[in-house]
Amino acid sequence: MKQEKRQLKAMEESMTGKGSADLLKYREGKKLTSSQSIRAKCAECMGNYEDGRKDCTNEGCPLYPWMPYGTKKRAKKQMNEETKEKLREALKIAREKKGK
Ligand code: SF4
Repeated sequence: MKQEKRQLKAMEESMTGKGSADLLKYREGKKLTSSQSIRAKCAECMGNYEDGRKDCTNEGCPLYPWMPYGTKKRAKKQMNEETKEKLREALKIAREKKGK
């Protein structure tokens, strides 16, 4: 147990990249959100960015679009006018219901 705490402390001191704090939090048994989990996984995968905060360039990895230092981010969804109008209507109905 003491050794585990010492390891966590040593990790904490050396961790500085995005996701490192999340990884530490996870190893301490705390819950993470999905985005924190992705950042933590990337920090672990990149050896806690010991070689620097770089893009892993692994575009074949399903997490790559969310990689904290990734340079190729996923394309944003483009909504057509029909979808936008449906969403506006749904929002209007929801607001009216809330106002009652
Ligand atoms: S995106 Fe890159 S750093 Fe993140 S888990 Fe995948 S391979 Fe590892």
